[in-house]
Amino acid sequence: MALAASSIADNFRHILARIEAARKSALKPAPFTHLVAVTKTHPEDAIRPLLQLGHRVFGENRVQEALAKWPALKAAYPDIELHMIGPLQTNKVREAVGLFDVIHSLDREKLARALKEEMARSGRTPRVLVQVNTGEEPQKAGVAPVHAPALLAAARALGLEVSGLMCVPPFDEAPAPHFALLAKLAEESALPLLSMGMSGDFETAIRFGATHVRVGTAIFGERG
Ligand SMILES: *Cc1c(COP(=O)(O)O)cnc(C)c1O
Repeated sequence: MALAASSIADNFRHILARIEAARKSALKPAPFTHLVAVTKTHPEDAIRPLLQLGHRVFGENRVQEALAKWPALKAAYPDIELHMIGPLQTNKVREAVGLFDVIHSLDREKLARALKEEMARSGRTPRVLVQVNTGEEPQKAGVAPVHAPALLAAARALGLEVSGLMCVPPFDEAPAPHFALLAKLAEESALPLLSMGMSGDFETAIRFGATHVRVGTAIFGERG
């Protein structure tokens, strides 16, 4: 069942407080931790309470769904920052570059080339993060950790700037080693952004230096 606007607002404030508390108790928090409110499957009615509280950073995982919801909201609130957190097909790159401000899911050279070409064509330059499949799960998107440096080098050779790394740890494992691995890979490549941590583990991710936590369920309730 959809949550009432007041519950969504309460949940949102509570998550912000938990983020602040986790940052305070972390030994080495990132210089900032942004909350990406993940609105996939949730309608505009669920998003409005956050907009009214001044929140502007949102995430979606499907291009088609995002195109249906966000152009009108972005027109009404031009400072919205929209994050693409799901796998991206090359045939959706044009729409994705046109709509999103940050793309978290670069995971192959072919996609890097398509993104670079579309950015050059359109003049829009969303920030790009490389998704790393830290658990090396065959069904999951992301580049294997050992192949991450080669992908970063390939992107650089294409002239595509990569700003950070993203991961989604295996569902059934403790997330901390995955966050630690992602942080280490980012540090080795001098990448400033670390997108890691979801509803169940964002405080752990903050301990490992997350600059972006992606939280859906804990704000908007279960997805239908
Ligand atoms: C859905 C999703 C999230 C949010 O997950 P919750 O558990 O609902 O907070 C975060 N990251 C990605 C990549 C997602 O697809």
